[in-house]
Order: sequence, then structure tokens, then C-alpha cells
Amino acid sequence: MAMKFRKIGVLTSGGDAPGMNAAVRAVARGALSRGVEVMGIYGGYRGMVDDDMIELTSSEVSNKIALGGTMLYTDRCLEFKEESGMQKAIATLKKHEIDGIVAIGGDGTFRGATDLSLRGIPTIGLPGTIDNDITASDNTIGFDTAMQTVLENVDRLRDTCESHARCNIVEVMGRGAGDIALNTAIASGAVDAVIPEVKFNEDACIERILRLRRAGKRSFLIIVSEGVADCSERLAQKITDVTKEISEKENNKALWVEAKFCRLAHVVRGGSPTLADRVLATKMGVRAVEELLAGNSDLVVCEKAGEIVTTGIAYSQALDRMYKGTLKDGMLDKFSEDEIAEMQKTIEEKKKTFAETYKMLCEVAG
Ligand code: ADP
Repeated sequence: MAMKFRKIGVLTSGGDAPGMNAAVRAVARGALSRGVEVMGIYGGYRGMVDDDMIELTSSEVSNKIALGGTMLYTDRCLEFKEESGMQKAIATLKKHEIDGIVAIGGDGTFRGATDLSLRGIPTIGLPGTIDNDITASDNTIGFDTAMQTVLENVDRLRDTCESHARCNIVEVMGRGAGDIALNTAIASGAVDAVIPEVKFNEDACIERILRLRRAGKRSFLIIVSEGVADCSERLAQKITDVTKEISEKENNKALWVEAKFCRLAHVVRGGSPTLADRVLATKMGVRAVEELLAGNSDLVVCEKAGEIVTTGIAYSQALDRMYKGTLKDGMLDKFSEDEIAEMQKTIEEKKKTFAETYKMLCEVAG
């Protein structure tokens, strides 16, 4: 039988993402409306170790849904990874009579959630990261806003590219995932994208730029994922040099496409969450409370084909590792053949979608 919950805690941990506040609000209001009190834990797991938290009344989360960043702040707490830090965290939770936790963050945050679950504290994870790198979920909280922010900035760069007949190489965040780069490349009308998931053909890209320049095109945008190391600045230099050489050889100044480099960096992490992120955060936050109250633990709330579903954290992490090719011996032992086949299918579909989407980007680039 499910235990009776009187008080739960909510925290945001790891990299911040727009929509985290909307998720905190949804967790708080979802719990309060079910007669459960809520504590907001400051600075991720650090607030648990250091006993730094605040009661989240309904008014405490009022007027927060549109705010970027996280009202609970975030931190990377190494002490929590040690058994002594973990025990301090558990003692804090006991002191405040907190019966369960909703942890909003990325894969590191979920590892912490599993550690708490294993020590008897029911914990549910919510994917809050701009990178969209939780393979089990089609979308993560913050991803849509990050893409919108990239798009707004790249649209500005297009204006100046068009004026000067230039190229701009824009590097965007995403850690090892090219989701932000690929989608914003399509939406901004970029001529190419450089992402970890698809092999980049530099010569073909430069040839395309030259062909389009000869046809009169003036603005050239290429979106590069930070997951592709040492690419952006080098590519800008290469395009500048190669097109200069050809323009000199053909005695045609117009063929020189000077390429500038721009790293949007943490700009992409900020700002008011989009409608899609606010709705996703709200649905996921309420679902996390429902799962806890139903007696479930060690799950991550995901969006799959438009539905809010849950997946075991261990499953989600094995899937991520399988996708990245970082599985270690024995990591799949606890999963059934059907589960492993399902993981493989998810990964195949994701890879196929990347390949097809990239192909489409090149087709519509001209
Ligand atoms: P993200 O959640 O965005 O992936 P991190 O990897 O920095 O960010 O993880 C956030 C926090 O989660 C860490 O600072 C730490 O407190 C906790 N954490 C990460 N990995 C573990 C682990 N293996 N065991 C316990 N806690 C962890």
C-alpha cells in the first residue's frame, strides 16, 4: 500500500534551464492541492546537505511561471556524491519530515535521485535541461526556449550577413547532443549544421556556399553544436581563406565570403520560458507529484509521442549510455530482452530522424 505523504521536497540541480520555475510551481501547487506540504530545497543537493530550504506556499510560487533561471538556484554538489554527504542530506530530510523528493535536472541529477531512492527516500526525476539529451524523453524542459533564443539571435545575424554578403558560424550549447543546432539550423534557414550525430562534409559545405554565392545569395549561416570539438573558429577561418583564394583566382571579389564566428554560450540558457516549455513543465511537475503519491520512486517523467509517461531512471540511463556508446559490461543485465530490444529500437529511430532531418536541411539550403 502506498505510504501517506505529508511533505515533499523539490530541487533544481545541474545546469539551469528556462521552465524550471514553471516546474517548481507545478510541483508545489500539485502537491498543495492534494493536501501535501512542499519544501523548496536551495542549490540542488547542496541545500539538502546544508539544510538550506524554504517552505513553498502557494504565494511563494506565485508570479514565477514566466521567469527564467531557477528561483531555487542550482549548484553542483560534490559532497552529495560521498556517503557522508548523502547521510547528511538524509538526516536533513528526516529533520524536516520530508517523505519524497522531486529532482529537476539532467542525468547527474537523476543519479543523485537513484541514490536517494536506494536509501529509502522516494524520488522522481524531471528532465530539466536545454540540451534535450535525455534519450527516453522526446523533449526536455528548457529545450524549446533555448531553440527560440538561438533562433532570435541568428535572425539578427542574418540581417548583418545579408548586408555585407557574409557568413556567420554560430556555435550553440547542447553538450554532446546536436538537437538545438540541427533544429535551429532548419528554422533559421542556415546553409548547414555541424552536429555530433552526422558526419560533416566540409568541402561540400564550402562548395555549396560558393555555388549559392555565384547565384547571388548574400547571407550564409552555419550552426555548430558545441559537441563537435574545435570546429567553429577553424571553419570560419577556412571558409574565409578558401573563398578568398577562389575570388583572387577568378578575379571576382564577390566570391569572397568572409566568415565571422559567434558563440552564443550561456545566453541560450536564459530568458522567459516559451509556451511549450511552460506547458511541458506543468504537465511533468503535476505527474511527478502523482507518481510520488501513488507510491512510485526512482522514475523519470518523460514525454513520448506527445504523452507524459514514466521510465525507470536505470532504464533511462542505460538507454543514454547505449545511445552514446558508453555502456559498460553488465549494465544491461537487469533488463529483459524485450526492454533491450525496445532501447535499440528507440536509438535506431533517433539516429534515423537525425540523418533524415540533416538531409532535409541540406536539400532546402539550396
Ligand atoms: P546534470 O543534472 O545537469 O547532468 P550534474 O551532472 O552536474 O548535472 O549533476 C548535478 C548534481 O547531481 C551533482 O552536482 C551532484 O550533486 C548530483 N550527482 C551527480 N552524479 C551523482 C552520482 N553519481 N551520485 C550522486 N549524486 C550525483
